[in-house]
Amino acid sequence: MIHNRRLALSLLLPALIMVGSVNNNVTAAPEGPAANVTAERLVKAEAEPGQWMAYGGTYSEQRFSALKQIDAGNAGKLGLQWFADYETNQNQHGSPLYIDGVIYVSTSRNVVHAFDAKTGEQIWKYNAMIQGERLRYNLGMVNRGIAAWNGKIYMGTLDARLVAIDAKTGKEAWSTDTVPASLGLGDMGDRYSITMAPRVAKGKVFIGGSGGEFGVRGWIAAYDAETGKEAWRFWTVPGDPAKGFENPKLADAAKTWNGEWWKNGGGGTVWDAAVYDPVTDLLYFGTGNGAPWNARVRDAKIGDNLYTASIVAVRPDTGEYVWHYQEVPGDAWDYDAVSPMLTADLAFGGEQKHVLLQPSKNGFFYVLEAATGKLLSADPFTEVNWATGVDLKTGRPIEVPEARYEKEPWNLAPGVQGGHSWHPNAFSPDTGLVYIPAWEAYFTMANPPANSPPALGGGFNLGIAFGAPVAADKLKPYARQGVSGRLKAWDPVARKVVWETESFANGGPTSGVLATAGNLVFMGNGGGKILNAYDAKSGAKVWSFDAKTAVFAAPITYELDGVQYVAASVGGAAQGGYFAPTYARMLVFAIGGKAVLPEPAPYTPPPLNPPPSTASAEVITHGGELYSQFCSVCHGANGMQARTSFPNLTVSLMLHSQGGFDAVVLQGVRADKGMGSFAKDLKPEDSVAVREYLIERANAMKAGGGPGGFGPGAMAPPPPRQETGHEDR
Ligand code: CA
Repeated sequence: MIHNRRLALSLLLPALIMVGSVNNNVTAAPEGPAANVTAERLVKAEAEPGQWMAYGGTYSEQRFSALKQIDAGNAGKLGLQWFADYETNQNQHGSPLYIDGVIYVSTSRNVVHAFDAKTGEQIWKYNAMIQGERLRYNLGMVNRGIAAWNGKIYMGTLDARLVAIDAKTGKEAWSTDTVPASLGLGDMGDRYSITMAPRVAKGKVFIGGSGGEFGVRGWIAAYDAETGKEAWRFWTVPGDPAKGFENPKLADAAKTWNGEWWKNGGGGTVWDAAVYDPVTDLLYFGTGNGAPWNARVRDAKIGDNLYTASIVAVRPDTGEYVWHYQEVPGDAWDYDAVSPMLTADLAFGGEQKHVLLQPSKNGFFYVLEAATGKLLSADPFTEVNWATGVDLKTGRPIEVPEARYEKEPWNLAPGVQGGHSWHPNAFSPDTGLVYIPAWEAYFTMANPPANSPPALGGGFNLGIAFGAPVAADKLKPYARQGVSGRLKAWDPVARKVVWETESFANGGPTSGVLATAGNLVFMGNGGGKILNAYDAKSGAKVWSFDAKTAVFAAPITYELDGVQYVAASVGGAAQGGYFAPTYARMLVFAIGGKAVLPEPAPYTPPPLNPPPSTASAEVITHGGELYSQFCSVCHGANGMQARTSFPNLTVSLMLHSQGGFDAVVLQGVRADKGMGSFAKDLKPEDSVAVREYLIERANAMKAGGGPGGFGPGAMAPPPPRQETGHEDR
């Protein structure tokens, strides 16, 4: 009998394992090491230069490695050692970790891979299985990174959860909803997502919610690293005064707001930069733009609107406010102050200072005293036309009045894409330079037409004429548009550019940056599919690699068994790649590496084959308005932004079936792919109008030759590829 029971169990066991692995969203695999990142290891991370245990390398987030086996002299011999394909081909923003022989990396839709760092063999794969209404509220399906602590890997998800994963097995340890119904946010609770990398210190995991472009109230919160229980939450803007303020600082902040700002949340989302500083024992974080963008729509009196567009310092144990510095009072330009920050110890005229550095989206490079938030300097590192400088006494920008686009549109520099976005910087203590993935960006800010629908309210309506066509001669103060990127080496003490690369020839943007003691700086050209290495002192290019796909994330470096490697997570839409398939992979390089990437598959664009356009002009116009408010942010102007994350609707088979179209738009049958139901915002006749609008657009394109062959006199082709990896929140 016993024998039979054993037999039964042994037959049952594989099934149990299968069920278990499905429930835990893990691809069964051998166990890996434990990723035993302790408080002591993280605080003393500089003593283990072979590791990359935190998002920014170490707590300073300098993204500097003391490794120097690969240097400016031999970098030309770098070759691909191994590569591993991901489960997705979408945009990869995730900065990997390397801990004790294993690379951990998050991909665009909240999958985490653990790879044997020597061979590239996958140890495990975890899928957070994102779902639900919140996936509608995204400016891109991306994730920028993960954190490690005490045997667990942490990730924020696009459906606004914080998850902990067992680093050994890839099994989910816990999953916490960061915006539970108990917060009483109502519909607003569904408009959050998370894209930033968690930071971890003192047994707590810190994470903030994205959603500033959809009308939410910003926050950062701390969770117990072992249990996922919320320890504290710092709201960055005051809520409805009738409900009382969570702390006295928010009561103070409410005095800088007018009207009923809380109905649109107010913004100030914490969606990228956060630095725990063991020197001051403070947690610094950047806050996003005011919501909606247009300050006059948000607040008729244009108050400062604290704490939007600010850097804030709190105590990591309690979330208690310590200081803030507001970069942009009364922000009217989507000037999130969330670009990556780092701490450094610099000598100013012989005086050593512990400072917090941020090359901000608004084009100014800020140097703050880390302990107090006192502004030491603020200088433009790229083209800036909204302010002529920053008053160091008051800390306030000296604005160009016309830049507030009250009477006329203003061709803003930096545009809303930013003079620098989320792409991480690096700082080399050897050269004293901050390496900035800098952009020159232009974007026309204009008031909305008089009878526009109210801003936000669940759609993508920011109180401006988004994408308003402006004739070239009206593009004041100059006729430039779009983004181009380059690497700039900035001296934060001398307050000037020391060297910079040429602007990328394709006008494309940058990736994040890595600096090493080998006198090297690594940075990719996002649109150009290239990863480059530069001499950190001179800026001379010393190595270049064709990644065959976009490079957005910052590379890292590590040492294993005496060999230094460089790892880059790549993937996504690239310049000229409008409709072509793309690839997403982990690439690992070493001196003398001989691996070869497969050539991209041949590709023929899908044909434009819409049904005839028979709807009335009234229906098509109505559909176009709805499309602009609810669909264009992902699917692009005219239905064909065609970023890899979002389908090109002009070639959709759904154009032939209103039933199929409704199933997606109103019933949410593709919610698992990020396309939630719009039934709350669109009636069945609205769905008909949107489809008719797309049919009309597709026919207009077909008349002009279709994608890849736009004929003269047809509707305008899409602008030159501007896949910036922008993904702003
Ligand atoms: Ca923003």
